[in-house]
Amino acid sequence: MYLRKRKRFQEINHDKGMHYLEQWNYCPKCGSKQFVVHDFKSKHCEACGFTYYFNAAAAVIAIIENEKGEMLVARRGEEPAKGTLDFIGGFVDPGEGFEEAVVREIEEETGWRGLTPNPSPRGEGSSYSEDGESNENLKILFSLPNTYLYSGLTIHSCDCFFHVLIPSDAKLKANDDVAACWWEKPENIRVEDFGLHSARIGFQRFLELKKKGKI
Ligand SMILES: [Zn+2]
Repeated sequence: MYLRKRKRFQEINHDKGMHYLEQWNYCPKCGSKQFVVHDFKSKHCEACGFTYYFNAAAAVIAIIENEKGEMLVARRGEEPAKGTLDFIGGFVDPGEGFEEAVVREIEEETGWRGLTPNPSPRGEGSSYSEDGESNENLKILFSLPNTYLYSGLTIHSCDCFFHVLIPSDAKLKANDDVAACWWEKPENIRVEDFGLHSARIGFQRFLELKKKGKI
């Protein structure tokens, strides 16, 4: 399984004709230019011996619904894909678990604080509630790999999708890199309205799970 996945990675990489670290010319540890390709996802420094591995960044995406079956969609306020639809979400900070990250992103981007009745201090484990019980309003669905362009670099992330319930009368205010957010019936949303690849696939998969009654 691992080998098959790795081969697929290499094939994808080869198709683009570029090593993941092609634009990384210097050793990030000692600054030497003797920074050469080691394998498909790493470079080795011939000066200090350090091998740098290129890994996916952890990210969270929240598919938020209310009790009326409406979905919270956001308008992207920044590149990439500025102006297209998106879900609330972002990267996991060092020291966070997925649950803490998604609760923080929801707070930052919508102002909604209802998911953290007992927030654990950051950096002290991944639980967002003191008793470690899972919150019925916050469930992990699935994860998907994603790429997007940032400052001319292709960023690879692994997006963890959550299903989140927020009341329809919650006072929400778009913030951070979200230009606007509003409730929408899922049937009024077209897959292609989402600008980022993983949001499109995630939305489709979410609808399939709903159809099967698994959500
Ligand atoms: Zn070095």
